[in-house]
Amino acid sequence: MALRNIREKGDEVLRKKCKLVNKIDDRTLTLIEDMLETMYEADGVGLAAPQVGILRRICVIDVGEGPIVLINPEKIEESDEKVIAPEGCLSIPGICGEVERPERVVVKALDKDGKSYTIEGTGLLARALCHEIDHLDGVLFEDKVIRYIDLDSES
Ligand code: ZN
Repeated sequence: MALRNIREKGDEVLRKKCKLVNKIDDRTLTLIEDMLETMYEADGVGLAAPQVGILRRICVIDVGEGPIVLINPEKIEESDEKVIAPEGCLSIPGICGEVERPERVVVKALDKDGKSYTIEGTGLLARALCHEIDHLDGVLFEDKVIRYIDLDSES
């Protein structure tokens, strides 16, 4: 495993649309391992492949309940109920803003063995799923911020 360099805002790769993964090979598995290691090292709750410069539909999430690997994730359901809460991004360090997200989502994806599964997330997990899937379409949370939060005033 190896740490990968996290691309930051301004890097064009973050604004591109990612391609579907057709085949899960050794390179894909190494990428997933590296993404998990990079996410944990950076203290993030999620990381999407374009954030390490790879334009494939892969993301990893851990909201404190263990690692979740999503290949070709697709949102198949979202609640009408929305929640506004603070959000940040490893590619936009030091910035935090309030974003509206569905309270609950259901996402369909492949796991690292290529098996299809669905995952239901509420609260923080729903937020992380939406945030990471947005990355795969070149969307950053700053596109959706309602109000920025001044982090300095809290220290
Ligand atoms: Zn992000």
